[in-house]
Amino acid sequence: MTVIVVSNRVARAKSDEPIAGGLAAALIPMVRDWGAIWVGSSGQTADAAQTKDSFARIEALGTGALATVDMPAKHYRGYYEGFANSALWPALHSRPDLIRVTAEEYASYREVNAFMARALLRFVEPDAVFWIQDYHFLTLGAEMRRLQIGRPLGFFLHTPWADRRTMAAVPHHADLVEAMLSYDLIGFQTDEDRENFEDYLQFELGLSVFDGAVTSRAGLTHLATFPIGIDVEEFSSRATKASTRADVNRLRASLHGGKLVLGVDRLDYSKGLANRMRAFDRMLESESQLKRNVSLLQVAVPTRGNIRAYRELKSELASLVGEINGRHGEVDWIPIRYLNKSFSQLTLAGFYRAAHVGLVTPLHDGMNLVAKEYVAAQNPFDPGVLVLSSFAGAARELDAALMVNPHDVDGMARQIAAALAMSLDERRERWHAMIGKLRASSVQNWFADFLRTLADTRRTPARLATSRPAKLPVVLDLKSRSAQRH
Ligand code: UDP
Repeated sequence: MTVIVVSNRVARAKSDEPIAGGLAAALIPMVRDWGAIWVGSSGQTADAAQTKDSFARIEALGTGALATVDMPAKHYRGYYEGFANSALWPALHSRPDLIRVTAEEYASYREVNAFMARALLRFVEPDAVFWIQDYHFLTLGAEMRRLQIGRPLGFFLHTPWADRRTMAAVPHHADLVEAMLSYDLIGFQTDEDRENFEDYLQFELGLSVFDGAVTSRAGLTHLATFPIGIDVEEFSSRATKASTRADVNRLRASLHGGKLVLGVDRLDYSKGLANRMRAFDRMLESESQLKRNVSLLQVAVPTRGNIRAYRELKSELASLVGEINGRHGEVDWIPIRYLNKSFSQLTLAGFYRAAHVGLVTPLHDGMNLVAKEYVAAQNPFDPGVLVLSSFAGAARELDAALMVNPHDVDGMARQIAAALAMSLDERRERWHAMIGKLRASSVQNWFADFLRTLADTRRTPARLATSRPAKLPVVLDLKSRSAQRH
């Protein structure tokens, strides 16, 4: 079986480069170690004539390959900044008030999905299994079926699926969800997301789910929950190796024995950054003995800067941080170190290990891999404390974290102070409970579970390749494949 993974963006092969986005971070090991082919946008656009057959760039990565395609220039913006990130993203994260979208942008979204379906034709082989990732490609499966691609099609949603009334705020929502039902299997991060989707099917489309599957005009679609994990051993070994990194050493030296609270996020309104800053401010007000003895390092990686909501958030945060630092700061201490840049995962692992508290407080998040990485990077003998929003998908597994409601600024301030004061015994007890769960649900298991379920859930006998579980790991014969492609 050859697994073809499709997502909007494909990470670069060089492993030490910064990767912004949990999807990219999760998929690299799958390609490198398990032989998948990962297909996505090259980050470039080209006009229609040039994009006809643009899979020139196929590069080997470990036992797998990365294949990138130039996206159609006429539609990329409407698809990516428009429908995907100004209609779907806000709705999926329960912010329908931020939806700003035009009919042209929806048309571009459909065009890019259709374009990608045509591009994928070259990967259709008798043993191919397609696994489509995330909200950029809700309608790709339907376009592939239209092109008579009969191979198994799986889809995984990395974001939350909001409640049905919120999703009904997306223009063309019913068309989108009907198109999604061309997939054989749809995977969600949490049971709550899956249940919201089932509610939508029932109340908006009049379709009922029996035994984890729904029958529609497109056939049978299975629905299941697959919480994404991380490579725990890899992260913990990175955290030990990271002590050689200059940035990590400088960070440790700069603390002068004080404590470090760390946040690492894309600069996105779903991450709850403003309330997090306010909570840190509130804690310094109420626990004045902590002044000079604790700092918050917030890595806030700029993202989607062409979209107004993101630009506005960036200036709101800059002024909030400036105001808090101006009020509490001293000549030799500032409370919040605020960085608008990204770091490699190796350096991040070192930051995680240096931090006494990991602060992960999104208003809504599909999973939040940073929370899991923070736990994996800790020193088992002296672990830090994870303060975690109950609205992150990760909260289902990491229930031994200090839980917070990201809308309750006072409550968060109290929990951050409690984390800073926590005894070694309690820190170790909580960490052991969390690391055990992370090991049991690694990213390797996530990949294998999804593909095994996909292989088991073929819809019609005509398309049934095998009823046996998929054989994993998948080994790709790169030599013969690349010869076929060039
Ligand atoms: N990340 C990174 N460098 C940075 C910031 C983040 O490599 O400077 C990675 C981080 O290690 C994590 C991912 O980006 O794997 C963020 O994933 P998460 O699920 O937390 O959030 P998302 O960005 O997907 O919403």
